[in-house]
Amino acid sequence: MTALQAITFDLDDTLWDNHGVMLRTEEGHYAWLLEALGMWRATRQEAPLALGYEAGLQDYLARRQQFAKDVPERRGDFTWLRLRALEAQLEAEDLPRSAAILWAAAAMNEFHRLRIQVTPHPEAAGLLAALSERYQLAAITNGNIHLKRQPLAAYFPVAIAAGELLAPKPDHTPFLTALAKLDVAPEHAMHVGDSWAEDILPAQQLGMHAVWVSSDDDQVLPPRVHRIAHIKELPAILERLDG
Ligand SMILES: [Mg+2]
Repeated sequence: MTALQAITFDLDDTLWDNHGVMLRTEEGHYAWLLEALGMWRATRQEAPLALGYEAGLQDYLARRQQFAKDVPERRGDFTWLRLRALEAQLEAEDLPRSAAILWAAAAMNEFHRLRIQVTPHPEAAGLLAALSERYQLAAITNGNIHLKRQPLAAYFPVAIAAGELLAPKPDHTPFLTALAKLDVAPEHAMHVGDSWAEDILPAQQLGMHAVWVSSDDDQVLPPRVHRIAHIKELPAILERLDG
């Protein structure tokens, strides 16, 4: 095989566990709401909310699902669904409508604050530091918030926010943009990502090598595609490919 010169990385669920962040965000913003609202009511000599955390979270989910059914054109607009569900829940707890709207908005502010707090896999920084001595590195993400804020930014002299190009993966544009900035031909580059459709297929179609971070071992792998369960297995693949 031809020698690899560059490696491009997806970020979410490749270099960190985004699922864990979503879970902490889901639980964290709701716990914050109940606590902050409880304190606010206490300062006003109002009775504590009858709503408990577990039942409240379940009711919140059920209300989101109901809103998604009732207003199908909004079913993919998750912030809208959450706001309407929280407002309805707080009004059902006898908050005045104006207070329900304000507290729902405050809870969603906390939701977005938690949502961007990602913790890279402990192996990620060491891996990228070692790789950067031998390969040019780039990040290609469909998310646009992580690039500047996330702690691994220093390892990516080239970072492509595909959403800002208005061409999210699986569009080929972000891959071609990264390759042009790196001045590397596709066959000398490898893309590493967790999404079969958004990372692996487009990279493979462009003639890049691709490493799929997945535990799905049923998928038949086309030429130049390799599968690992975790990025810590990447050096072993590179050793096999690149000697
Ligand atoms: Mg991903």
